[in-house]
Amino acid sequence: MRRRIKRTLLRHIVRRPIPLSLCSDPDSIEGGVFCPPWKCGKATCVISMDDLCPAPAKVVGADLGCEPGGGVSKELENLLREFPHIGITFFVIPDFRRSPASRGGYAVNLPQNSAWVKYYLEWARKYQVEFGVHGLHHFQRYNPFFGKRLEYAFATPAEARASVHAGLGMLTEAGFDVRGFRQPGWDINSDLSLISAVRSAGLLYVAGSSLDAGLNSQRQRVSNLFPTGINGLVNMPQNIELDWPLARMCEEAARIQSVRGIISVKAHVADRGNPNALTEKNLCKLRRFLDFLGSGRSGEIEYATFEKIAALAEKSLASIAPNAGEWDASLDQDVKRSSAEARI
Ligand SMILES: [Zn+2]
Repeated sequence: MRRRIKRTLLRHIVRRPIPLSLCSDPDSIEGGVFCPPWKCGKATCVISMDDLCPAPAKVVGADLGCEPGGGVSKELENLLREFPHIGITFFVIPDFRRSPASRGGYAVNLPQNSAWVKYYLEWARKYQVEFGVHGLHHFQRYNPFFGKRLEYAFATPAEARASVHAGLGMLTEAGFDVRGFRQPGWDINSDLSLISAVRSAGLLYVAGSSLDAGLNSQRQRVSNLFPTGINGLVNMPQNIELDWPLARMCEEAARIQSVRGIISVKAHVADRGNPNALTEKNLCKLRRFLDFLGSGRSGEIEYATFEKIAALAEKSLASIAPNAGEWDASLDQDVKRSSAEARI
């Protein structure tokens, strides 16, 4: 029995890649080639929202946009009508699963979900809306002691590659034009093979960092304010959370605007449960935040999707040598310091 437990541990846990957030020596990350950040001509605002999928609320425990024209999707449509100039990138779960064995029929390329897909594709036609790929199932089956939503934390390079290609294939078959990727639950493995998998799928960018997670686990590797080149991809930053108080959101936006960075607001397509969810309170706050940006009090701001910014950044980053070295975190420090001082 003991031998069986040991073998299971070795085979399924110890021999798995170690997540970036658990890596004992964060300076020994394999394969990370970082280019200096791309500086923008003007501050740009992008809103990104994760977890859009057709799985019903009674299965998920929250409305992730399952009901076109109702629930949280109606709220989003109202927001787009009120603020038609804004840019939103939605990261879609291609085939939501609650467990490895579940077969819910929530893959976006299934015929029963074609009306759902059509409804959201209409947004891309009418508004500045983009759809990116958010893993495959939003589920990790390798380690029962670790967050089950962190799909790539323990994935081997081959598994990561197969998963990214499968998820992208489903979205493409459904009719989505996908250029970007965000990993579910932020964590990735420490050899950064996920980045290679995303690049091998022909995608343009990864939105793989938050202020303290994803690519910025344990220490800062990529800019929080500008697009950064990483192993042939553009990383798009995320720096403002919808759960923050409105004053803090506005303050950060003004600081980022002052250095012409990317004001990147993170939310979840969910009516409850998740961090940065589209609750009534947060939707109200988002409207007031957009009113603040529109008032000009924080200076001139453009609105775009991640794809649009990444396409511009790629041209600039492509001219930089691929072995440009690591991102110098001190370049973000001035802005961080001034934000902290303003909060005191
Ligand atoms: Zn997610």
